[in-house]
Amino acid sequence: MLYSDIARVFGRLEETGSRLEMTSILAEFFAKLEPSELRDVIYLSQGRLHPEFYPIELGMADKLVLKAIAKAAGYPEEEAERIWQKEGDPGAVAEDMISRKRQLTLFSETLTLENVVQGLTEIERSEGKDSQSQKMKILSRMLSNAEPEGAKYLCRIVTGRMRTGASAMTILDALAECFADKSDRPEIERAFNVTCDMGLVGETLARGGLAAVSSIQVTVDNPIKVMLAERLPSLPEVMARMGGRCAMEFKYDGMRIQAHISNGSSRLYSRRLENLTGNFPDIGEHLAQSLKVKEAIIEGECVAVDPDTGAMLPFQTVTHRRRKHGMDSAVKEIPVKLFMFDILYLDGEDMTQMPYCERRRVLSQTFAEDPLLTLTTMEVVSSDEEAEAFFDRAIASKCEGVMAKSISDASVYRAGSRGFLWIKYKKDYHEALTDTFDLTVVGAFYGMGKRAGKYGALLMASPDSETGKFCTVCKLGTGFDDAFLDALPGMLERFKSESCPRSVEAKMIPDVWFEPGMVLEVVGAEISVSPIHTAAWGWVKEDAGIGIRFPRYTGRLRDDKGPEASTSVQEIFDMYEMQGSDAV
Ligand code: ATP
Repeated sequence: MLYSDIARVFGRLEETGSRLEMTSILAEFFAKLEPSELRDVIYLSQGRLHPEFYPIELGMADKLVLKAIAKAAGYPEEEAERIWQKEGDPGAVAEDMISRKRQLTLFSETLTLENVVQGLTEIERSEGKDSQSQKMKILSRMLSNAEPEGAKYLCRIVTGRMRTGASAMTILDALAECFADKSDRPEIERAFNVTCDMGLVGETLARGGLAAVSSIQVTVDNPIKVMLAERLPSLPEVMARMGGRCAMEFKYDGMRIQAHISNGSSRLYSRRLENLTGNFPDIGEHLAQSLKVKEAIIEGECVAVDPDTGAMLPFQTVTHRRRKHGMDSAVKEIPVKLFMFDILYLDGEDMTQMPYCERRRVLSQTFAEDPLLTLTTMEVVSSDEEAEAFFDRAIASKCEGVMAKSISDASVYRAGSRGFLWIKYKKDYHEALTDTFDLTVVGAFYGMGKRAGKYGALLMASPDSETGKFCTVCKLGTGFDDAFLDALPGMLERFKSESCPRSVEAKMIPDVWFEPGMVLEVVGAEISVSPIHTAAWGWVKEDAGIGIRFPRYTGRLRDDKGPEASTSVQEIFDMYEMQGSDAV
């Protein structure tokens, strides 16, 4: 397969904003590929070489890529820098400079998919003192053999800016359209939810059809998409929804970890599939040592504890474990505990389809006693009073609230979905009108006065799970401290976009646009109808959306969440309705 044919398809995807059109472009193209080629094309379309949870990223610095472009095109580096200053995207620099290449390629060869995969693999593997110059040379060699459009996407892939607009959901649609029937889409999505590996699902489907996909099961070392909770505004409503009786667990305020344990070691993943094994070596070791069976996948909330008193510390403390350096001292300075709440796999058996009570029973028997590992505090409650008393205990123990979990036989682990089998109820609901929102930054406004020269406010958006578009919900200008304001431009630099990204729907126009990437936790006074925000446009009122009034940043950067996992338009709409308000 010629790489230029693949790049052309990426170009067509980028041109159209329509998910339907992207689906048919991809479906038509998928039909032309060998199963193993399909796997690689799926990864490349997402700007990677492997599934999302793979621990190594290509991540080349922009400056290094500019060097490679200049070398391949036969121009001085300054020329690449000049265009980059204007465009802000190394892909655009490559497309421009390769189209007016001055350098004659001596041993020119037509770039194939295989060459690209091989070249990118070499880049990924280069290590040691000389690795930067090695990476630059490999990329430059590929660029000199590429056509302008292909060069653009190569540079976008190595800098982590692929952005063709084709999301995982669109790829699933295309796979169903190409190899199965529309009605088979849920089964294909199920396979993706239990493996987080779209390439694997695509190749399996192309080789063995739907029957092969149906046999894809939960396995150790393929992270499973996490199950999420719905929210309700009061405990009596939670109890009524649960049929008057349910399990209640403390809702710990830490970091969710999915642990895959086998052969005496553990791999730990965050809810956005980052590999956290190196950040929590103590938890990994204790899980492996205390496991009483051969293999298991469990989930728990990792919480920092006070080294002297053992009391639970706020969420921010555990995030310090994310730093890359000084892990040995961090392990000593910030002791953590894992509060385990679910088991998804045990010795060859997929546990996700078993009811909650059975999973909890198995989990309680799977580990030997261990100072770092414990089960979440749980009680079965049968009345509003019992629920209130349990909630008070949770708050007194420094938890953020409770998780109600259905104890019916239908209470399976729904990978990748948010539903009422789990309902969260937090302290914030008691105190404020609404819950916190996790919102995605899509724009920034330059500051004035004390904030001159920095960003003074941010345009925040939520994903609409139906359309996949990010719709704006508020302009956020409070809750920032000076250190955060100083750091913001640097943190947002890699998401900068020349114009409004295709995935964003906005009426308010910021000074700078960003591709959805950074997620911040925000509190608001209320949700009201808004003529300038595009979330839930027309749902409450014609020619209006809904927006969050008086938003304030809580200081919590949700780098454990990807933009697609931020609070959705549908959730904000539900909260609007829950307010019981007709605030206009
Ligand atoms: P939030 O921002 O409120 O933590 P979320 O969007 O991260 O919510 P939800 O499904 O809404 O995720 O809430 C569940 C989260 O609560 C889980 O992702 C997990 O990190 C955390 N958690 C804490 N204690 C528990 C528990 N006992 N059972 C399940 N999840 C728990």
